[in-house]
Amino acid sequence: LLQAAYEGSRPKRNFLVIINPFGGPGKALSVFEKLVKPIFGAAHSTFDLLVTERRGHCMEYVKTMELKYDALVVLSGDGLIHEVFNAFAAHDNSKEAFSVPVVQIPTGSGNGFSIALLGLKDGLDVGAATLNAIKGAHMKLDLCRMKQDGKEIVSFMSQTIGMMADIDLKSERLRWMGDTRFVVGYLAAAAVNRTCDMKLEIKVVARDKHAMLSTYREKRSKSLTGQSSDVSSSDTTPASSQDKDDDGEWIVIDKKLAYVCAGKLPCLSRDLMQFPVALCDDGLIDIVAQERVSRLKWLTSLDGAEKGKPYWEPSSNYFKAKAYRLTPVATDGCFSVDGERYPYSPFEVEVMHRLGSTLGD
Ligand code: ADP
Ligand code: MG
Repeated sequence: LLQAAYEGSRPKRNFLVIINPFGGPGKALSVFEKLVKPIFGAAHSTFDLLVTERRGHCMEYVKTMELKYDALVVLSGDGLIHEVFNAFAAHDNSKEAFSVPVVQIPTGSGNGFSIALLGLKDGLDVGAATLNAIKGAHMKLDLCRMKQDGKEIVSFMSQTIGMMADIDLKSERLRWMGDTRFVVGYLAAAAVNRTCDMKLEIKVVARDKHAMLSTYREKRSKSLTGQSSDVSSSDTTPASSQDKDDDGEWIVIDKKLAYVCAGKLPCLSRDLMQFPVALCDDGLIDIVAQERVSRLKWLTSLDGAEKGKPYWEPSSNYFKAKAYRLTPVATDGCFSVDGERYPYSPFEVEVMHRLGSTLGD
């Protein structure tokens, strides 16, 4: 009877599992068979399976799927998560689609989504991510809406232009290396050390780093961000509140920069916490407008990057914003959205507060 009561109180989840056999080192299928499936079996979870055959396959499937699953479990890097959220936007019943939780089992080269949910250790652990799919509580998260060339795109993690996009997109041939490809890409980009000419307009809500850290500490316990940074360890005078608590004020940055990176999740990869004070549901996007520094400085910046140390560098102009617009001056270059390549043309981004759903502690 006790067993029956226990079983009754914990309904089993029914998943759609989506596997990208091409992501990262290409082991997602065998990871599913050897590790994930046995755990689902032990927990009496049920699932339907989609193994993608090409780029866009997941998007086509999810945008017309029946909304009958408790969650979508995605074995891939961040690219397939990007397809899922964009498929939700294209779904006939888009509102309900966005209420279906999405989780990542980290099997790509960039696994920023699961790191954000579960932290650096568990977020890269297939077992912990699988247990989270089975037991995690429903949580809401902000998504971004990007407009470019008359199209609307959903971004859940980041938009990067300049050096950071070069690192991601020019290292794609090295996918077999897993996330080591980002370190190789970083060294190559630091050696070139170029800048991009662009006009960046930001609807700024906060720009004082101490104030942002203080607000982050206050809100983190209520946020789903499992990741914690040690950016506070060497700091001085924390301020008591954010600069502004309103809708923001437009500012313009019109100069050459090494890169601009904007995002909602703290880590772009295991080795880089780009946004140490990012909160998944604060209604704001974190933006770094990074000045060029010397090659030596790029190299020494690697030390502590996984814990967000570059945040405190004066060359890292850090903003919390409601929205921004970016207009590149050149006509070609790398622009990456959630690790996917997009045209190098003007775009604008706004935050969609708590539009997406996921599972966490
Ligand atoms: P990584 O972390 O290695 O970048 P992702 O999961 O981000 O891995 O996927 C990389 C790209 O692979 C994405 O653009 C995705 O749409 C694409 N993709 C998905 N399925 C396939 C497939 N079967 N063959 C080739 N590419 C695919
Ligand atoms: Mg990717």
